[in-house]
Amino acid sequence: MAIIRFQAVHNANSRKPVYIEAPSKKTSDYFGIHVFDKVKMQRYLSQEAYEGVAECIEKGHTIDRKLADKVASGMKSWALEMGATHFSHWFHPLTDGTAEKHDAFIEYTEFGGVVEKFSGQHLAQQEPDASSFPSGGIRNTFEARGYTAWDPSSPAYIVANTLSIPTVFVSYTGEALDHKTPLLKALAVIDKASVDVCEYFDKNVTKVYATLGVEQEYFLVDEALYFARPDLVMTDRTLVGHASEKDQQLDDHYFSSIPERVSGFMKEFEIEAYKLGIPLRTRHNEVAPNQYEAAPVFEECNLAVDHNILLMDIMKRIARRHHFIVLFHEKPYKGINGSGKHNNWSLMTNTGVNLLSPGKKPKTNMQFLSFLVCTLKAVYTHQDLLRASIVSAGNALRLGGNEAPPMIMSVFVGNKISGMLDELEVRVTTKKMTPDEKTELKLDVGKIPEILLDNTDRNRTSPFAFTGNRFEFRAVGASVNCAAPMTVLNTAVAHQLVQFKKDIDELINKGVKKDEAIFQVIRKYIIESKNVRFEGNSYSEEWQKEAAKRGLTNVTSVIESLDAYLSTKSKRLFKSQKVMNEKELEGRTDVRYDNFTKKIQIESRVIGDIALSQIIPIAIDYQTQLMNNIKGLKETFGQSEFQNLSVARKELVLTISEHISTIKAKVNEMTEARKNANVIINAREKANQYSLTVLPFIEDIRYHIDKLEQIVDNEIWPLPKYRELLFSR
Ligand code: ADP
Ligand code: MG
Repeated sequence: MAIIRFQAVHNANSRKPVYIEAPSKKTSDYFGIHVFDKVKMQRYLSQEAYEGVAECIEKGHTIDRKLADKVASGMKSWALEMGATHFSHWFHPLTDGTAEKHDAFIEYTEFGGVVEKFSGQHLAQQEPDASSFPSGGIRNTFEARGYTAWDPSSPAYIVANTLSIPTVFVSYTGEALDHKTPLLKALAVIDKASVDVCEYFDKNVTKVYATLGVEQEYFLVDEALYFARPDLVMTDRTLVGHASEKDQQLDDHYFSSIPERVSGFMKEFEIEAYKLGIPLRTRHNEVAPNQYEAAPVFEECNLAVDHNILLMDIMKRIARRHHFIVLFHEKPYKGINGSGKHNNWSLMTNTGVNLLSPGKKPKTNMQFLSFLVCTLKAVYTHQDLLRASIVSAGNALRLGGNEAPPMIMSVFVGNKISGMLDELEVRVTTKKMTPDEKTELKLDVGKIPEILLDNTDRNRTSPFAFTGNRFEFRAVGASVNCAAPMTVLNTAVAHQLVQFKKDIDELINKGVKKDEAIFQVIRKYIIESKNVRFEGNSYSEEWQKEAAKRGLTNVTSVIESLDAYLSTKSKRLFKSQKVMNEKELEGRTDVRYDNFTKKIQIESRVIGDIALSQIIPIAIDYQTQLMNNIKGLKETFGQSEFQNLSVARKELVLTISEHISTIKAKVNEMTEARKNANVIINAREKANQYSLTVLPFIEDIRYHIDKLEQIVDNEIWPLPKYRELLFSR
């Protein structure tokens, strides 16, 4: 076993960087060459077909079969020219990954032989055998039909000679079985609700897009070391491993120069991403050793979500060529920073205005304030649901540590904006304002861009921070599909915007002037959502106390957090916005409970196996070595000398014995706890039981294994150590 470890370390250290040339020196020359984007549509479709598709995408209309046939024909010509042999519907089931089933273009002709065929039917819809995808009981196996349907708003692309068509995945009875369906609905409702509110300020706004820029954090680990660690292979995180003497305490990794082999990997995955039209912009070293980040320029939210998932896929694939494995787990290593996926979110109009960016005129700033306070109020009202959207077994290990936001959902807006909101609260009254008061108020509101320009304060401890022209939802975990949090956020804000308009119209109907009505409702929302605003250190203990006083919820259990999906408030929210019905909500929440159970179940089995079949045997070997040594001492030295010389060795033998016994006993107890939990049928109950009775053993057993790691001869320790995993690059 020890040989495996040393071979792994040797292999890791002898890897050479791989450099791949870009197809052209200039990125713009090859950006998007593998995407059937608007430029290619114009080239491969008739003018009429192109305009038809463009309109359907813009207005969110469905594309009829005749038009689909035309698009399919153009898409096929392009794909064949690009060397594609297969096509596939690409979708995001409720697992952690994506799904695709490849079909060759070929079909028999009447006269023998085959031809390449791809019709509107192939493009628009497929019926994968859906029985093996999780649905949380929505779809029973005996009626296992689900189908995928083309999402024309995310362009088709070619990877590995396969034309991939982004699709939604729904059951035969119409319920969403994927992440994309509810997201598209949420994006449609926020579009409508935002346009309606923009009516007050600018009648030229006819469409509002939610925008998203995802900062993706990840770890790299050498593949030879990775494969020598069953815990990494099976669970994506280290279940054992004593902290390395040095890791991130010197802050010498963040933004430092990128190691050669790593930059070889980055350059290559960026080239692949550019070919697929993913606008990657930023790369840097993160805080922990061997932790890095990639961030694109923001895009329309649905496309950004697809691109993020696609990017993760590309990164995993390219990493292997550089003998790396990418870890997207939220907490691969104990004691050092974990990885998140910061969701930078805003709203953009068809007229090119960022609704969360203050403008130069009082009118645009009233618009800005409207969207700002509606977001604040939405986050406040649906704090539990937002938390539910981001919790998972992995993220629970990251959140609430001293490196990532706690489970309390608060919003940081910066002192300047906060001061501005406080002032509005005092200044605006329900009394009729005098013309002078009005002018003064508008002048003040007009000053927002100036105060923001020199407002450089940035708070990195907040789960939801305003960063000058967007919000950044930082609590999202690194491994997940952003669709779930984006569905919740957009639905909640949409709901609030609808209410905002209702509240204003009510005042206008009572004879209040439009501007005053808007100010009054803004003020009302400022007051109602005040408790969610927090400018201080969210990692601190004082905040926990303060938040409790304010009545903000702080739920640390993943299971209890997930329950928020099923609260009356959440059900009403999703139903009123027609984003998800009760059955869909219950289905996907069951999948999440189940996912938690399975993750803990696997982790528990893996640590049990490592303990019994790797650690205990090696500890016994070392103990035997010690005892042989003691025997030798006894034979060589006289009694009193022997007494002196053997003390430390005897102590070691005893310590090892104690750890071995404890590990063995705890593994047995853990197995019993699993057995008891496994008989539970109800998904929530089972997950809760796993959380309460199985999960604690994982940490407990680890403690003793990590102690042994420090005692047992380094020569024979069977697993690559933290210093090897973290510093081999
Ligand atoms: P930082 O680490 O300082 O927060 P980064 O440059 O790493 O910033 O990432 C910021 C992300 O925010 C980028 O993906 C960027 O495109 C995105 N972003 C900027 N403006 C917007 C916007 N209006 N809507 C959505 N995302 C945005
Ligand atoms: Mg950021």
